[in-house]
Amino acid sequence: MAGNNNTLSGKNIHAFMVSFPGQGHVNPLLRLGRRLAASGGLVTFCAPEAAGVSIRKANSITDDGRPTPCGRGAIRFQFFDDGWDFNSPNRDDLRACLAQIEAAGRVKLPQLIRKEAEAGRPVSCLINNPFIPWVSDVAESLAIPNAVLWTQSCACFSAYYHYHNGLVPFPTAREPEMDVQLPRVPLLRHDEFPDYLHPRSPYVFLRDAILGQFRNLATPFCVLMDTFDEMERDNIEYMSRVIGRPIRTVGPLFKELESESESESKALRADFFKAEDCIEWLDSKAPRSVVYISFGSAVHLQQEQVDEIAKGLAESDVSFLWVVRPPPREKNWKPHVLPGSFLDKVGERGRIVQWSPQEEVLAHPSTACFMTHCGWNSTMEALASGVPVVAFPQWGDQVTNAKFMVDVFKVGVRMCRGEAEGRIVPQDEVARVLEAVVRGPRADEIRANALKWKKAAVAEGGSSYMNMQCFVEEVARFDLVPN
Ligand code: UDP
Repeated sequence: MAGNNNTLSGKNIHAFMVSFPGQGHVNPLLRLGRRLAASGGLVTFCAPEAAGVSIRKANSITDDGRPTPCGRGAIRFQFFDDGWDFNSPNRDDLRACLAQIEAAGRVKLPQLIRKEAEAGRPVSCLINNPFIPWVSDVAESLAIPNAVLWTQSCACFSAYYHYHNGLVPFPTAREPEMDVQLPRVPLLRHDEFPDYLHPRSPYVFLRDAILGQFRNLATPFCVLMDTFDEMERDNIEYMSRVIGRPIRTVGPLFKELESESESESKALRADFFKAEDCIEWLDSKAPRSVVYISFGSAVHLQQEQVDEIAKGLAESDVSFLWVVRPPPREKNWKPHVLPGSFLDKVGERGRIVQWSPQEEVLAHPSTACFMTHCGWNSTMEALASGVPVVAFPQWGDQVTNAKFMVDVFKVGVRMCRGEAEGRIVPQDEVARVLEAVVRGPRADEIRANALKWKKAAVAEGGSSYMNMQCFVEEVARFDLVPN
């Protein structure tokens, strides 16, 4: 699959990508950028300084305008000053942060894009991810074609679309337990659709931010999605017809490009934290014996839940690699504390890191399963790596992804139903579920399903490759028309 990218046709395009400053947004957009660059294009990967400051620190990237080679093309990083002050008292006000980024971006992006044209590198396409729908307005005002990389599943895309347009009933304050039936999607219970859309959600500003993309859906000429046809074919075809423009599946985007050298792929990462080396530790463990535990870049569990997970791990006899991340620097949250005797008790059986090289961990033969918060990137990475999951969703699309992994794709079991459940999963349940997935009676069946999805993901590289080719050719055609 991946090696084919070297043969993508289409003349050299200049894709200018703009990312929301979140790890789960940056990763898939940069992976798309690597694909486009590998095909011979120039990619400028642009993000607000709110992301730049962490990315610069944790990686070996340069953002001085010099391109880094990638396959037949190259990538440049460019961060724009968003005026966001991480030292201000309202530094964790995400609503204010989004407004600030928009205000700065609407001024800075046109300047940056005009400079590219003046330097002889006119931008052929502006690509953005969700939460920053105003990038589509910038593209329109400069007469540059715009595409969106949707970084969740097509089922979630459909939920937001149908909600925004009032096409199907959703729970209300009066009827909070109503199920949601979207066309071509299995019935979703009241706690299984993206919960920003639930009237009880405390994340109203995130709902508004994500729905902004649906208000602006007439501008992008296509929607790229980090998913693959086999997973949600009917729904993808249906939604493509409904929105009246192509939805091009290009996933799984995270697969290494065969055409990339190791140094290239290392130079083109945008982690917000430096990954700790845990591969040697994994090497020392038996095949399929380690539970990998991570809740992504944004979820912060209650301390009480962390205590129960720790006690459950101590009680069980599984080996584990657990990412215990410090709270984001803009938050006033207390860092998690592990129970006093925990590390002594588990000894060599357990390893704690602050950030892992997750793709490598999931690809490692010692990894038996992944206890995950079910962010879409983690979901795709688990599915395409053939790793069984223990679903531990909290909010947003995580609850929908958990439903799909457990009930539709059948690659794991559920540990909880989400933050709205208001339940702390007790230690004995943690121990029981983890042991069941590693070596219980259903372990082989779940593993076989996970491997089936891995195979499907590899095979789908073909259609994702074709879709990428269509995209590149379309952008190249636009390029022939002077703007
Ligand atoms: N990730 C990582 N190391 C970690 C934890 C997460 O590299 O220790 C990466 C993971 O591979 C994924 C991203 O961070 O690409 C998290 O995205 P996801 O959509 O799963 O969750 P989010 O952070 O957006 O909630």
